[in-house]
Order: sequence, then structure tokens, then C-alpha cells
Amino acid sequence: MRPAMKPKPDPDIAMREVLAIYAEWERRPIERSCTGLADCCRFRLVGHTPYLTRGEALVAAKAWKAAGRREVVMPADGGCPFLHPSTGRCGIYQGRPFGCRTHFCEAAGGPARRAEVRDLIARLEEIDHRLGGNGAVNLPVAVRQAMGR
Ligand code: SF4
Repeated sequence: MRPAMKPKPDPDIAMREVLAIYAEWERRPIERSCTGLADCCRFRLVGHTPYLTRGEALVAAKAWKAAGRREVVMPADGGCPFLHPSTGRCGIYQGRPFGCRTHFCEAAGGPARRAEVRDLIARLEEIDHRLGGNGAVNLPVAVRQAMGR
């Protein structure tokens, strides 16, 4: 008997699951105060680039496409490609990755503690695995890959 074929993962279901994880994070009673200053989005300046799992990249790519964009172009200043050059606002705020919600921004309260996010990261990793990913990937690369899906 041949082994049963694994069902193809449904990206829409995966994206809904990722958004549910983001929503769950927002409901947690953990003090965060992102005011959209976007300092943390200047990767070269702060020395950090967020890494995304595949489901997060699909969500970010969908938000970028919804903004009418078809490409992910790295700006010359080494900042995030989704940071608007004149307004300084995130172009995919509703679809921004988990790292942008929880990590590396001192102004918003500093990185979330590992214990506060471990379970949610595990769920993002499980979705990544189901989608055929192999762990988190650098933000511009991850979203560029997801744009073609
Ligand atoms: S995705 Fe948005 S919040 Fe995250 S680094 Fe880029 S501009 Fe900043």
C-alpha cells in the first residue's frame, strides 16, 4: 500500500492562523507602547533586522500587495523596505511581522521576554513547517519570496 499523500497546505488558512496569533499577542496584558516612531525600522542604524517565518511573510506580502506594491526594494539607507521614506510610517502596519510587534524596539518597551512569546513563536514555527519553510528568514528576503505566491 502506498503511503497517504500529505494534503497541500492552504496559505489562506495559514495566514488566518498567523493573524490569530498576532491578535492573541495584542490581547496579552503586557505593557507595550509602539507609537510608530519607526526608529526600529532603520535596520542599519539599530543593527537588527527582523526574521520572519513563512506564514508571517505571506501576511506581510499580502499587505504589501494590498497597498498596490509588486516588489520589495531595499532602500539605500538600509532601512526596512516597507517604511515610507517621507512619512516614516510602516506600509504594512496591520500585517507587520511578529518581531516588529514584540522585539527590538526600546521605545516600545524593549524586547518581549522569551517566556511571554515562546508559545506564540512555537505556533508560528509550526505553521512555517507546515508551509514547507525551514525556519525564519531575513525580512526583505522572506517577503520577496512570498510575493510570488
Ligand atoms: S515591517 Fe513595518 S514595523 Fe516592521 S520594520 Fe518594516 S516598517 Fe518597521
